Amino acid sequence: MLLTARRAFTGTTDQVPNDPVLAIEDGRIVEILSRGDVAESADVVDLGNVTLLPGLIDVHQHLAFDASPDPVAQLQADDDAALLERMHRHAHRALDVGITTIRDLGDRGYLSLELRDRFAGTEVGPRIVASGPPITTPNGHCWFLGGSVEGLDGIRAAVRQRAARGVDVIKIMASGGNMTPPSGPMSPSSGRPSWRWRSKRPTPPGCRWPSTLTAARLWPTPSPWAPTRSSTARSSPPTASTPTPVSSNSSPPAAA
Ligand SMILES: [Zn+2]
Repeated sequence: MLLTARRAFTGTTDQVPNDPVLAIEDGRIVEILSRGDVAESADVVDLGNVTLLPGLIDVHQHLAFDASPDPVAQLQADDDAALLERMHRHAHRALDVGITTIRDLGDRGYLSLELRDRFAGTEVGPRIVASGPPITTPNGHCWFLGGSVEGLDGIRAAVRQRAARGVDVIKIMASGGNMTPPSGPMSPSSGRPSWRWRSKRPTPPGCRWPSTLTAARLWPTPSPWAPTRSSTARSSPPTASTPTPVSSNSSPPAAA
C-alpha cells in the first residue's frame, strides 16, 4: 500500500519532506519514498493537505477518568462494565487525535489490562501499557481505585499481586494529588509520617524527595489527613493491612 500527503515529519530529522510516499506492508511503514520514485500509474492513497507524523505516546494517562468537573464521582457511579466502556471510548478518542500508545497509570479492577489485551488482538485501538490499580496508602491519593495497602509486607504483596496479573509497570502514589483532597501533589501521599521512603542515594540538594525510591514503609499510624465529614461524601476509604481486594463496583472496601 502506498500513502501520500503534503508533508511528513519522521522524528529522525528536522527536515519535513514534501509529498512523501509511504510504502506500507503488513501494517508497518517499510520505506518513505519521494513522489518522483513512484510510477505515475501506481495506486497511491492521497490524504491531502496534512502532515504525517509518528504516533504520539501519552506516558501518563488514566483512561478511567473523564473530563467532567468531578471525575471521581463519575467513576464511583460506574460499575465495571460501564467503566470499561468509558475507558474504551477514551482510548479511541486518543487514537483519533494521533495517540497510538497510552501508558495507563492507574485504573480500577485491572480494567486497563483487559483493554490492552483486546487491542493487542484483533480489535483496533491504541497500544496500552498498564499498571492496574495504583498502590497507595490508606486515605492516600486515589484510594478509591482499590490499591490501598499498609506496611512493607502490604506493599510487597501488592507488587506481587500486580505482577501475577501481568501488569507492565507498577504505579505508586508517592505524593498526594489534587483528586484526593485535602492531599496535594507537593506532599507525601498520606502525610508525614505515614510514608517513609528509603533511598540508596542521598537526596540531591534542593530536591524535596529521594531521587531513587527503593523501598517504602507505611507506618500504621492514623493518617493526619483522615477524611473530614465534608470529604467523606465519597464514603470511607479502606485501611486494610494487606492489598485491598479490587472492588468490582463503585463502593470502596469496608474499613478494617
Ligand atoms: Zn497519574
